[in-house]
Amino acid sequence: MQKIAYFSAEFGLDESLPIYSGGLGILAGDHVKAAADLNIPLTGVGILYGKGYFQQRIDDSGWQHHLYPDINLAASVYPVELVRDGYGQPLLIEIPLEGRKVFAKSYAVQVGSVTLYLLNTDVESNSEADRRLTDTLYPGAQDVRISQEILLGIGGTRLLTALGIKPEVWHMNEGHCAFLTLERIRMLSAQGIPFETALEVVKASTVFTTHTPVPAGHDVFSIGMMDRYFGDYYWQLGVDRDRVLSLGCIDGAFNMTRLAVSTSSRVNGVSKLHGEVTKELFHRWMPHIAIPDIPVDSVTNGIHTGTWLGHGLKELFDCHLPSDWYLQAADPDVWTAVRDIPDHELWEEHKRAKSKMLRTFGLSLPATDELPLIIGFARRFATYKRALLIFSDPERLSRILSAANRPVVLVFAGKAHPSDGPGQDLIRKIVELSHDDRFKGHVHIVENYAMDKAKLLVQGVDVWLNTPLKPMEASGTSGQKAALNGVLNCSVLDGWWVEGYNGHNGWAIESAVDTDSELQAKEDTEELYRLLEEEIIPLFYNRVEGNVPEGWVNLMKESICSLAPVYNTNRMVTDYWNKMYVPTSARGKRFAADHFEVASRVAAYKQFIRSNWSRVKISKVDVHNNNSFRAVIQLGAVWHQDVRVEAVGSDGHRGIWKVVLEPVQQLDKGLYVYEGASSDIPVHDIWQANPNVRVTPVSPDFANDHEMEMATWG
Ligand SMILES: *Cc1c(COP(=O)(O)O)cnc(C)c1O
Repeated sequence: MQKIAYFSAEFGLDESLPIYSGGLGILAGDHVKAAADLNIPLTGVGILYGKGYFQQRIDDSGWQHHLYPDINLAASVYPVELVRDGYGQPLLIEIPLEGRKVFAKSYAVQVGSVTLYLLNTDVESNSEADRRLTDTLYPGAQDVRISQEILLGIGGTRLLTALGIKPEVWHMNEGHCAFLTLERIRMLSAQGIPFETALEVVKASTVFTTHTPVPAGHDVFSIGMMDRYFGDYYWQLGVDRDRVLSLGCIDGAFNMTRLAVSTSSRVNGVSKLHGEVTKELFHRWMPHIAIPDIPVDSVTNGIHTGTWLGHGLKELFDCHLPSDWYLQAADPDVWTAVRDIPDHELWEEHKRAKSKMLRTFGLSLPATDELPLIIGFARRFATYKRALLIFSDPERLSRILSAANRPVVLVFAGKAHPSDGPGQDLIRKIVELSHDDRFKGHVHIVENYAMDKAKLLVQGVDVWLNTPLKPMEASGTSGQKAALNGVLNCSVLDGWWVEGYNGHNGWAIESAVDTDSELQAKEDTEELYRLLEEEIIPLFYNRVEGNVPEGWVNLMKESICSLAPVYNTNRMVTDYWNKMYVPTSARGKRFAADHFEVASRVAAYKQFIRSNWSRVKISKVDVHNNNSFRAVIQLGAVWHQDVRVEAVGSDGHRGIWKVVLEPVQQLDKGLYVYEGASSDIPVHDIWQANPNVRVTPVSPDFANDHEMEMATWG
């Protein structure tokens, strides 16, 4: 059975254990819960932050205040226990930090069959400063950041070793934990395995999930800082400093995402679109690889059904869906029975969730007989999420919100990172607008957005609004929680919604992707107002019989049926299992077998290619009849079976086509003629396709076609 270690800097399991800041942590928590539901042998590794992410207070003028109460472990709904050694003493892990020794204890959190280990440095043998290292999540100070990441990656690996856990697959959830690969190389080096071989062993058994195109999500440390923290560590990897740094060095600094990519055999983004965007991002690091060829896959995020589904709705599903619906949640057939739920039952249940949300938050609403249409917007106040987009034309919005007999209410919630000034300005602006006469009673903000508040909102509003600047929202998951609860999405076609929207299960804010973000905002706003005025509000207030908005309830059903089976973590973790874990486990074993035979062969082969590649040259390329190619290629010492030669051209739609060329003649030692033709090149004029020939080093042992990130073009 494959054993997986899942490393993440944050885990959002429950609001009683606030060691998460946003989507990344919630996703990790949901991943762990789904692994437990599916009986997948997974072990989580993270950090127990003594005070966690901050608690938010918003004062009357809209200023965000940051409170850091100690986490009360006794209040956690998941059992948490200190990990002890064979003598009953706390098991201490030692990590090197700037030449000193720092100790960490750990806690085991039990999530069904899955154990999550969380490290913490608040132990007596540490200096006072070191005891505070793990107090807060995402501290502003770079030194604390790198220390936490060394603890997570290196300390986490040492902890698993101390516990006798030998993972077959190592899953890095975002780059924060990527130092784990260096520690695993160090352990192999200590057994006498050469660095390049050790690197191949580690790479073969490691997968990496990247979560955002936003630069702030990718940690970068200066080389000076790396030298300070790793000065006494580099040599332990059995190689020189520059080679270690080369694994993560970009533009003169050490990039954790680059390290993660260099040390994994499979990389994925968190939605199809994000996979594509990530290719563009990584292309800068491997400019010889055409963007569509960059080896990045995608596994679209999902949410844990049991965590996010409201109680009342769950009871309704228990009544109307097949009895094992929860375990079969990734099967679309299970959900079709949602259509048979009587409209008024679904509507009454939704109204109960809505009232509960309003009651809990104590929101005062405009006086009407019926509950008004409520639109929710809750997420981290990062600027790319454009919380203020809906206020772009305040006059028009106030007319929309306060039309006679058709009131609309906006509810906002979210934290801005303590060092994100522009994010905090957004909160102040919304508070200001909520006091504005034009919006009084129609605009509300709820403080301290966390999982408990998120549940109330995704279950209790009518519409879930999402207006990020495309394509910055890698996936987004709050809209998936909303969909499960019959709350309708109105979202920019970004992240998961590009895949989820089917034309009739919610609303899409579609605008031509523009390089000009102001123009894009203008188009998106116009489309949002149009949808509200012409579609959303009329549909919600269209009541004929018994006050149940039939059209609306039908849309709720369509939304649940089409989205709930796909955007859940059962489907997601099954995808990870099939696409990433199973093949990587086999690969890792193969590379390590027979005293690392395959790994050392691959390492030697790559070194040979690297030292001979500069002499590979394409001296002549001819194109005939628009579809056949001939190239004269100097391979030097590189064997012709060890390269793939292709003609490559643009398909006119941001994609490429390829035609494989075969060696037809050897002109001289290491000098070949290659030829190939294809009748289905998808362009009329070959010159528009800008065709060229490339030579790529290949091996049957490589994880993908471009593992060496190298190619020579004609
Ligand atoms: C689901 C969730 C998120 C992530 O939502 P996005 O749609 O990705 O912005 C953030 N914070 C909390 C508390 C959540 O529950």
